[in-house]
Amino acid sequence: MKRRDFIKKVGVGVAAATAATAAKAPYVIAKKKYFWKMVTTWPPHFPVLGEGADKFAKWVEELSDGRMKIQVYGGGELVPALGVFDAVRSGNVEMGHSASYYWAGKAPAAQFFAAVPFGMNAQEVNAWFYGGNGWKLWKELYASFGLVPFPAGNTGVQMGGWFNKKINSIDDYKGLKMRIPGLGGKVIAKAGATAVLVAGGEIYTNLERGVIDATEWVGPYHDYLMGFYKAAKYYYYPGWHEPGTVLEIMINKKAWDKLPKDLQAIITTAAARSNIWMLSEFEAKNEYYLEKLVKEHHVQLLKFPDDVLKSLKKHAKEAIEELVEKDKTGFSKKVYTDYMKFFNQIEKWHKISENAYAHALSL
Ligand code: CA
Repeated sequence: MKRRDFIKKVGVGVAAATAATAAKAPYVIAKKKYFWKMVTTWPPHFPVLGEGADKFAKWVEELSDGRMKIQVYGGGELVPALGVFDAVRSGNVEMGHSASYYWAGKAPAAQFFAAVPFGMNAQEVNAWFYGGNGWKLWKELYASFGLVPFPAGNTGVQMGGWFNKKINSIDDYKGLKMRIPGLGGKVIAKAGATAVLVAGGEIYTNLERGVIDATEWVGPYHDYLMGFYKAAKYYYYPGWHEPGTVLEIMINKKAWDKLPKDLQAIITTAAARSNIWMLSEFEAKNEYYLEKLVKEHHVQLLKFPDDVLKSLKKHAKEAIEELVEKDKTGFSKKVYTDYMKFFNQIEKWHKISENAYAHALSL
């Protein structure tokens, strides 16, 4: 059937159906409209992360034909950047966009759904969420806080960070002051470093003034925009501490339960689109910005020595096991056990698929 004929037939069909419906139901019942607020951890319209939140809201509005509108707020506009979890939990706002490792103090197991040092990469963690038990366990954990979580973005493998002194051996971490969040901070602390928590907007100044010796952020695209190359010389890889950090959307469960099924499906679909959109955005732009950093700004790109990575990996295992031990709810143990079971299995597969292919390309 030619396209034009197809459109004509569909058009006739729709007209006939509309006429029949109109005859049977003379009163048109307007469907209820939903106006929601989404608070985020990111500065308003922040590249990729804030942009992703804006796009998510736009997609939901388009898919629902305007029945659902989401107003997006940057960190600090309605609630503080790290007040997202509590704001959504309390029901003051219906939804939030953030990363689950920020809630480690309230729910230690939440870290497994954001970033695990020497853990799974984006492809693997998505397999755990959508094909394994990952998302199911995350829902179970968040249900105890009256929340519903969705994977809604990924950074891919991050960079190791910006340093003002070289890391030649694990001993170079002794006395080093580095801005690095979450489990990564616990790992370098085991090597004798001090992990410092600095808000995004203050990192540059602290690095420039020598208050910190090093910082990590995301990857070349974001790091370029942050201007760290003006304050530190050495740019290390790989980002062993965040090999595929997951961004999240969380929804107040009471608000979620009140939504009609089609709007729930629309949100679920738009979140999955966000998940792939953000990862693609980072992946598409990182190399372009890395080349700019190296060629235009003479950044020294350095790989962590193997011995350093080996030591950090050992410390990572210890740090994670301590976290599991300390979490008296038992949830970290439950999640970590499943995470490692899945990781070991997919690692075996990736040895003969992804890794073997990367090797083949390198020949
Ligand atoms: Ca990071």
